[in-house]
Amino acid sequence: MQRQEISTLGEFGLIDRISKRFDKQLPSTIYGIGDDAAVIDAGNDYILMSTDMLMEGPHFNLSYVPLKHLGYKAVAVNISDIAAMNGRPEQITISLGLSNRFSIEAVDELYEGIKAACKNFNVDLVGGDTTSSPAGLVINIAVIGRVAKDKIVYRNGAKVNDIICVTGDLGAAYMGLQVLEREKEVFLANPDMQPDIEKYEYIVGRQLKPEARMDIVYELQEQKIIPTSMIDVSDGIASELMHISTQSGVGVKIFEDKIPIDTETYETAVEMNLDPTTAAMNGGEDYELLFTIAPPDYEKLKNHPDIHFIGHAHNDPKQNQLITKGGNVFGIKAQGWTHF
Ligand code: ADP
Ligand code: MG
Repeated sequence: MQRQEISTLGEFGLIDRISKRFDKQLPSTIYGIGDDAAVIDAGNDYILMSTDMLMEGPHFNLSYVPLKHLGYKAVAVNISDIAAMNGRPEQITISLGLSNRFSIEAVDELYEGIKAACKNFNVDLVGGDTTSSPAGLVINIAVIGRVAKDKIVYRNGAKVNDIICVTGDLGAAYMGLQVLEREKEVFLANPDMQPDIEKYEYIVGRQLKPEARMDIVYELQEQKIIPTSMIDVSDGIASELMHISTQSGVGVKIFEDKIPIDTETYETAVEMNLDPTTAAMNGGEDYELLFTIAPPDYEKLKNHPDIHFIGHAHNDPKQNQLITKGGNVFGIKAQGWTHF
C-alpha cells in the first residue's frame, strides 16, 4: 500500500479522519471532537474537558521564552478553550516530558508560572505525569471546567444576521514572535548586542504571556448575554471564522476597518513589510474570544471598550468575505497550521 503523507490532509483533515472512526458509546458524552472542549453530562451541569500540548520547537523556543512565562501560557491557552464554551475552569493536570538539559531550578521556574496562572484563573492543579524526553521540553495540560446546561455555547449556533464580535486586539502575538525571532538572529550573529525589544513591549508581552478572556465570560453572564456561537482565537480569526461558518451553516462577512489592531502591532508589521491585516487575520495565538450575538443584544454591548463588532453572519455558507478598506471583496480561507 502506498504511504500517505500527513501533510496531504493538514491538521483539520487529520482530526476529521480520526473523528469519523469513533462513534459515541455513552449517553453522558454530549459533544466529542470538533469544538473547543468536549462536553460531558454531569447531572445539573455540563463538564467541559480540553487539552493542549506545547512542544519545544514548533511552539516555543527556550532561547527567548522565559520558563515562568511558558508555564503561565501553557495554562492560559487551556483555560481559553473553556472560556470559548462559556464555561468556568476548575481543575488542571500537567504532563511533562523533560530532557536532562533541565535543572531542578528550571522546573521550579516553570511551575512558578503555572502557579501564578492557577491563582489568577482560580483553578487547582490535581495531577499529571512526568517522563523523560529525548527531544526537548513537552508540556501537555488538560483542563476540566463547568457550565450550566442552558449557558453552553458551541461553534455551531450562529444565525443569519447575528453580529460577529471579537475581544481585545489581533495580530499582536504574531508580530511579537516576529520581533523575538529577529532579535534572536541578531543576537546569534553578534552575542555582544543586547536585544532591542523595549520598543515592542506590548506585542512581545502578548506573545510570551497571553491571557485567557475569562473576564469576558463573567461580563457576558452579568449582562445576561449568551453568545450564539463562540471560539477562542488560537490560529487567527480567518481560520476561526471558517469553523463558525462551517459548523453553523452560515456565511460570514467582516470589514477590514473594524478589525482591532493595536498601533504597536500595526507599526511593527509595516516596519517588517508585512500586511497588518494579514497578521491580524492569520497570525494566531491571540487567545481572544470570537463570538456571535443575536442583534437585540448589540445594545447591551455596544459601548464595551474591549469588544469589537467586525461584521455579521448571512445565509450563504460558501461566501465568507473580508471587505477591505477600499471596498474590495476577499474570500476568507482557513489557514490552520501546517507543521507537517
Ligand atoms: P483548539 O484549537 O480549540 O484547541 P483543535 O483545533 O486543537 O482545537 O482541535 C479541534 C478538535 O479536535 C477538538 O475537539 C480536539 O479535542 C480534537 N482533537 C485534536 N487532536 C485530536 C486527536 N489527535 N485525537 C482526537 N481528537 C483530537
Ligand atoms: Mg480553541
